[in-house]
Amino acid sequence: MTKKILAVYPGSFDPPTKGHLDIIIRASHLFPKIIIAVTKNINKKHIFSLQERIDLLQKITEKLKNVKISSFSGLLANYLENINSFVLIRGLRVLSDFEYEFQMALMNRKLNKKIETIFLMTDQSYTFLSSSMVKEIAMLGGNIKNFVPECVEKELKKRVANLSKSN
Ligand code: ADP
Repeated sequence: MTKKILAVYPGSFDPPTKGHLDIIIRASHLFPKIIIAVTKNINKKHIFSLQERIDLLQKITEKLKNVKISSFSGLLANYLENINSFVLIRGLRVLSDFEYEFQMALMNRKLNKKIETIFLMTDQSYTFLSSSMVKEIAMLGGNIKNFVPECVEKELKKRVANLSKSN
């Protein structure tokens, strides 16, 4: 049995939302150390660069002393092996998340039988919330205050304004 469990919460976090933060806070109460692992996927189009997503996550988690931010590319199972962590945290919102997450959890376990995925349920008020929905609302000029932390709101508004200037 591992005494000091290092848990990893992977994701794109483009941008981090209050739903992500809710999961991070819940996980930080359960595990002695959490690494938020931001995906470095060159095939995915992101509104924020990897460094910007890392900086935003750093800001919104600065009060959580057992949370660290990192990034990875390639296979998650390999990253976990490299840092000697075998506990994955994923958030669940609605039933439709379940099928994909279940498949991923079983695949990760197939790749490395030591990997266990722990699902945490978000607060009810964030069950409808996703990064892509927040981006869409921001692009259409809607109010995103309730969905993202204040520093994310500020940066997202700036980014959207720049994007609309350049189009
Ligand atoms: P990915 O591309 O890996 O799905 P995301 O940043 O979209 O990256 O999500 C990372 C994790 O956070 C996933 O487990 C996802 O289900 C979870 N998540 C996203 N939004 C919410 C939310 N509003 N409440 C709870 N969990 C969420």
